[in-house]
Amino acid sequence: MRVGIIGGGITGLSCAYYLGKAGGSASSIEATVFDPAPGGPIGTVNVEGCILETGPESWLAAKPWAEQLIRELGLGDDLTGSNDKQRRTFVLRDGGFLTLPEGLQMVVPTKVLPVLKSELFGWGTKLRMGLEVFRNPVAHPDRSVSEFVNDHFGPEAVEFLAEPLLAGVYGGSPDELSAASVLPKFVEYEQRYGSVVVGAFRDRRPPTGTSIFRSLRSGVGTLIEALKSRVRIVNSRVDALTLTDEGWQLTSAGEATLFDIVVVACGANKAQPLLAGVDPELSDLLGTIPYTGSAIWTLGYRRSDVPHPLNAFGFLVPRSEREARGMKMMACTWLGTKWAGRVPDDKAVFRCFSTDPDAPCEAVQAELERLMDITAQPLFTVGHRWPDSMPQYTLGHAARVDEIEQRASEIPGLYLAGNAYRGIGIPDCVKSAQQTAKSIAGLVAA
Ligand SMILES: Cc1cc2nc3c(=O)[nH]c(=O)nc-3n(C[C@H](O)[C@H](O)[C@H](O)COP(=O)(O)OP(=O)(O)OC[C@H]3O[C@@H](n4cnc5c(N)ncnc54)[C@H](O)[C@@H]3O)c2cc1C
Repeated sequence: MRVGIIGGGITGLSCAYYLGKAGGSASSIEATVFDPAPGGPIGTVNVEGCILETGPESWLAAKPWAEQLIRELGLGDDLTGSNDKQRRTFVLRDGGFLTLPEGLQMVVPTKVLPVLKSELFGWGTKLRMGLEVFRNPVAHPDRSVSEFVNDHFGPEAVEFLAEPLLAGVYGGSPDELSAASVLPKFVEYEQRYGSVVVGAFRDRRPPTGTSIFRSLRSGVGTLIEALKSRVRIVNSRVDALTLTDEGWQLTSAGEATLFDIVVVACGANKAQPLLAGVDPELSDLLGTIPYTGSAIWTLGYRRSDVPHPLNAFGFLVPRSEREARGMKMMACTWLGTKWAGRVPDDKAVFRCFSTDPDAPCEAVQAELERLMDITAQPLFTVGHRWPDSMPQYTLGHAARVDEIEQRASEIPGLYLAGNAYRGIGIPDCVKSAQQTAKSIAGLVAA
């Protein structure tokens, strides 16, 4: 069975890998990935002895799928965890750094004392956080993250917790993001217990001893390189996709190739035009998933030129602060503190994230230097722009995805996979690839 995979980000590459495995030595499944730039935003570069990421730098340890794949690929020894002894995040408020209280499960506080002591929230918010435990179970139709968090903890928690934390992951506004898709666990707690604090507390797991964030010592790009070496890749984009009597015809670099099955793993925004001639309704549905972009600027300095003790993983910049100061940066990671072995002791490296893919380096650099009291010039600046790369799980996303999947399932031999649908993180993408490969392998076995 010939499978054509459009898009060789982590989803497309791992799908091809799993299909290869499922095919076994008989190679009953032959998968080909088409992508002019495999890996998508994932990649690692080495600059002046520092290991830098072009896009993602880690994934959540609680989601096992990426790590399982990494071990299967023989990269288990390269796995590493964030330096959680120093795990602390600052939030910019009124131009100064305040500490995010310890014990947060995303937007939900699970420890009383750190919240009580926190300077980030006023007493009104602290009181609301305490009283939240007395809520009764309730089921709401999908609401925005802002509405959800505001309802449970008030506006200050939206402004200084939900917005900066989620903007760093989804690159979108909590006013538009769907609570059901972005905070599904907490929506479930609301329905089951009323209080999300009670839910988070009851579901607490004993500490595993592993770090909350996981990565590869040599950089996440190593995972992409390992996959690339194991799958068949055509380094060009697919320009047209047609369903013919003989099967799926993919046209790439002027050449048409036939496949029995096609996996569209290039993002809903890029899938939309490709599927317009196959099924206009499905194409329209895919077009309802909006996208935003982002830029990562990584700046390296001599450690001696940075007066700050760098005693945290970095800082977040809430929307209100960005607007008040005209800032482009939403988050900054202090790489040498968060990860052992990525930055030599004599350097300080800052990974600055902006949801403006056009954010100029000079603007980000000026913001960083002002906040960190740096007057020296950087040793290096490395930038990567990722326009239209982040699907937005906006209000009603889950229902839209159900409809998309239903529609796609009615078209024989068509599979959709990737970060646009049921999870944006690297582990979610691997899971989506694994499930797709399993369904396809099931057809062969049947
Ligand atoms: C800046 C940034 C930072 C991130 N940080 C993290 C993080 O720290 N942790 C985490 O878990 N996740 C992070 N993410 C999210 C995660 O990286 C992505 O969700 C994931 O990599 C998406 O993988 P994918 O394969 O589904 O899609 P993509 O990686 O977008 O891959 C799609 C591929 O399709 C190709 N393509 C497009 N059109 C065509 C066509 N017509 N023909 C052929 N190929 C085509 C593209 O070249 C691309 O390679 C981050 C994302 C970004 C952008």
